[in-house]
Formats: sequence, C-alpha cells, structure tokens
Amino acid sequence: MNPPARSRVTAALASRHRPKLLAVLVALSTLLLVHCVTSPRAAPGRLGVAGQFVPIDAPVVLWSDPGGYDAHKPGKWFVDEPPDGKLRYTPLRGNLPAAIAQNVGADGLSLEQLQQVVHQFVLHFDVCGTSRQCFKVLQDVRSQLSVHFLLDVDGTIYQTLDLRHKAHHATTANDVSVGVEIAHPGTFPQPLSADMRRWYERDAQGWRMKFPAWMQETGVRTPGFIPRPDRPEMVEGQIHGKQYWQFDYTPQQYRSLAALCAALSRTFPRIRLEAPRDATGAVRSDQLSDAELRAFDGILGHHHVQKNKTDPGPAMQWNRLLHDALALR
Ligand SMILES: [Zn+2]
Repeated sequence: MNPPARSRVTAALASRHRPKLLAVLVALSTLLLVHCVTSPRAAPGRLGVAGQFVPIDAPVVLWSDPGGYDAHKPGKWFVDEPPDGKLRYTPLRGNLPAAIAQNVGADGLSLEQLQQVVHQFVLHFDVCGTSRQCFKVLQDVRSQLSVHFLLDVDGTIYQTLDLRHKAHHATTANDVSVGVEIAHPGTFPQPLSADMRRWYERDAQGWRMKFPAWMQETGVRTPGFIPRPDRPEMVEGQIHGKQYWQFDYTPQQYRSLAALCAALSRTFPRIRLEAPRDATGAVRSDQLSDAELRAFDGILGHHHVQKNKTDPGPAMQWNRLLHDALALR
C-alpha cells in the first residue's frame, strides 16, 4: 500500500469511527472528572512550612481549613470566650546559631533557615484516643502545651501550627524538633486491666478500640470508622527496662505516619529516616544521654527524650515505619 492510499484508508476509518471515538472521549473525560471529584488522592495533602506549602501523600487538615485546629490562637478553642492572651507555642525557635538569630525576618524563620535548625521528629501517643480530644486537652485544659501535628485513628493528619513555630511537646528537644501526637490510649502496666478495657473490646472481627461515653463527640472524619489495631493481638515490651502492654496503632495511622516522616525528611534534609539504635541494631527503648540527643538527626520516640515517658510504646513498628517512609520519600 502506497502512502496516499494508506492516508485515504486512515481518513475513511477515522470518519466512520468518529461518532464512536467522540463517545469514548466524552466517557473518558467524564470518568476523569468524577475521579478528580471523588478520589481523596486527587487532592494531594500539603503541609504549611514558613508560609509555604509542601506536598504530602496523605490527608492533611491545616489549621486554616474548615474543621481544622488552630494552635496559633491565644485562647481556648472549644469554648466561646475571649482569648486569654496566652500563646501555646513560642514564635521563634530558641538557641539559634548566631548567623541565623541575627537574620530572622518579622514573620519568623525562613524555610532555608529552618532547614539548618530542624533535625528531629518526635513521635508521641496522646492518651486521649482521638485528635479532637487531644487538641481540647492541649489548647483548652493544659494551655501550656502544643504540638505541630495530630494523627487521628482514621489516618487524618491535623497540622495545628506552622513549622516555623516552636511547639511545647518534648522539653529539651523542642528547639530543634517537629512533633506529632498519635491518637491512642497509650501503654498499660498490666494486660487487659480495667483501664485498658475502657478503650478496647472484642467483636466478631477481633479487638477494636471503643470511645468512652464521656467523649460524646469523637471528631473522627471518616463516618462510622472503627479503629482496629494493625496487629490483632496485644503487644508487650520494655521501655526504660519496665514491661508494658499496648494494642497496636491502626493501619491507617501507619500509612499516614510514613507519609508524614517522608514529607518532613524531604523538607528538612537533616531529619534522616532513622531511629536511635543499640549495638545490636535494635531501636533503643531507653533515654538518650544529653550528648546523644543533641547529636541525633532523625526520628525519635518521646521516651528517647525523657525518662518519665513511654510513648510511642512497644507496639510501634519502627522498622516497618522507616521502611515505608523511605519508599515514599
Ligand atoms: Zn509524649
């Protein structure tokens, strides 16, 4: 077949199939539109850092979004009363290198300056069970505490503060760290004690978390969400040489936490996707010395910072988290 003949055939075919082609194109674009409107991945999450947005592959509700929690507010959040004037955070990070301290802008540190200063990400459990309850305790009850992120049982991340602000979550690590409170009842010194059973019950599918009646409103954004531990059985292990029992975090929390670790590591290159390890290569379950803490670049548990803390507890699957974060980085 010579070229002119081929193009005549092609033209004839195209004209014969044009209505079909059109219909397919319309169907495809409709599908695409519906996908964009309904898929959560179609609207990628973003974090607020020094007045800029950085992308993250997880659902994030910023302090300025509808339904968000704003720790910049100098007052209570859940009650309608005038601001008490008390900031829950510190506007500028302390103990800055002189070269940075002399060049801080009116709005605080720039992203480039933060990248030199921030080198740790601290994981906490909130002992509140839900992010809504955690924010209520931090903002309205304690009023001296704050944290940059809350991670709810359904994997929703709430960012309450721009990362240029120092949150009050981990004492000596506050100046150089970002923190997250993971919604979780915490560790228990006895297995299935009355305290633990207030938060967990068994149904046909195994153990699930339940919310106490006093909580009334959970604030969990996924309708009807039932939090189930990633591993079905209770986990036990030692923190600071003492035995604790704990149910695991939810798979949705692991997924979002890995994305958050990856996004923070991309944004702050000093935050390595690593945790403190002992000589055998296991993630340490004790407190770091002051010198070790200062020198560490990466992801910490609150127990690595303070001897009186057990979070995130023996259930945290550190190696799985770091591996998943590395894949998302
Ligand atoms: Zn903590």
